[in-house]
Amino acid sequence: MNQKSSEEQGRGRRLAIIGAGPIGVECALRALDEGFNVALYEAKMPGAHVRTWSHVTFFSPWSLNRSARGVATLQAAGVELAPDEDVPTGAQYLDAYLEPLVEALKRDTHFQLFEQTRVLGVSRVRALKGDLLANPKRARRPFLLRVSGPEGERFDEADVLIDASGVLENPNRLGPGGLAAIGEEALNGEVIRAIPDVEAQRDRLAGKRVLVVGHGHSAATTLGALTELRESAPQTHITWAYRAEDEPFVEIEGDTLPQRLRLSRLGNAIARGEVSGVDPVGGVFVERITREDCALRVVLADEQGTTREIEVDRIIANVGYHPDTSLTSELQVHLCYASDGPMKLAASLLASAGNADCLAQSSAGPEVLKNPEPEFFVLGTKSYGRNPNFLLKIGLEQIDDVMTLLTQKEGDV
Ligand SMILES: Cc1cc2nc3c(=O)[nH]c(=O)nc-3n(C[C@H](O)[C@H](O)[C@H](O)COP(=O)(O)OP(=O)(O)OC[C@H]3O[C@@H](n4cnc5c(N)ncnc54)[C@H](O)[C@@H]3O)c2cc1C
Repeated sequence: MNQKSSEEQGRGRRLAIIGAGPIGVECALRALDEGFNVALYEAKMPGAHVRTWSHVTFFSPWSLNRSARGVATLQAAGVELAPDEDVPTGAQYLDAYLEPLVEALKRDTHFQLFEQTRVLGVSRVRALKGDLLANPKRARRPFLLRVSGPEGERFDEADVLIDASGVLENPNRLGPGGLAAIGEEALNGEVIRAIPDVEAQRDRLAGKRVLVVGHGHSAATTLGALTELRESAPQTHITWAYRAEDEPFVEIEGDTLPQRLRLSRLGNAIARGEVSGVDPVGGVFVERITREDCALRVVLADEQGTTREIEVDRIIANVGYHPDTSLTSELQVHLCYASDGPMKLAASLLASAGNADCLAQSSAGPEVLKNPEPEFFVLGTKSYGRNPNFLLKIGLEQIDDVMTLLTQKEGDV
């Protein structure tokens, strides 16, 4: 972090960030350099969402996962960094980068980290959602944050608010049209809604009949780990149910990310029935789940209503996530009706849809990050709503874009 001066654009304004994931932490680092007083609220511990997939290897290398500012901060603190071209696991990303960065942030007197502190809702001081529409006075009413921490509930205030709370707390459901399947909610947490650490959960999975649902790279990662498990536990039987009727993965010509290409190839090979011990069922969704003694009876249905029943011991749902829009429902945020992401960014993502390579994306610039609510921004994976193509490299560009907006605006308000 650089020396601050009264000339800096943040000039002691209070910037609150919801979520100490990779983007919240990187944003705090940048905002301190711009002269803001930063309060970072984290419901659990920094990097909590990455921790749920700490055993998974990134498909992007270090060079795309960390900022130049973050690298410089850690180098100045004497932290040894892995080469740019290496690809970390989630755990390595946390241990070697995010956690040391948080430690560096804590040394800055303009920074406060509120761990185990959940933001429950946000609004404006003395302004309801419908008040001061398109009125510059709205920007002069501070943000009001209702938070719950170790000491109980309280209200905090901020001048600028950034929501970087991610989507991982809200996994999608298994049933038709995104609804829960009949009986799904009654299973009370029995469905595994993450990429499981198959080795750590060996007792739960080895030798079992496992249903994997989903057709993204998360499902392919799970299938890869389960097929490896079969080498030492050949009784393990896997059924893979997914929506696509054709090959589920696009194999990108000359993909520069070998890990992604490997997963896509594996997924397509399984879909063609070329991997023993895995039964692929394409073009279906889960209609109903019934517990029968120790087993789960699952009805899979296709678009024509043809059903097929299977009996399994475990269900792993890798069917994506959606944002919690209630957190900011008292603010003037225009959300996309299809993705639940902020409208301007969603529209720009829709316009560029069709490119199968998420690596080819770049940030669409500062303007698309603006909301009707002044000085409020959604960054990171939550900014993409239900669109799964977010990458850290985009989030780092978003931070630059927002800081450009905030520092340009200084003096106007
Ligand atoms: C399995 C997997 C693999 C991925 N691999 C890659 C990859 O290789 N390359 C890449 O670029 N991207 C990858 N991504 C996508 C993306 O980069 C990650 O999801 C990344 O963690 C997003 O960072 P974030 O800071 O936006 O959100 P998150 O990491 O989700 O962080 C959000 C934080 O907010 C906290 N929080 C939530 N609600 C509240 C609240 N109300 N109050 C306070 N705190 C709150 C959470 O506890 C969490 O710590 C991957 C994602 C997954 C799931």
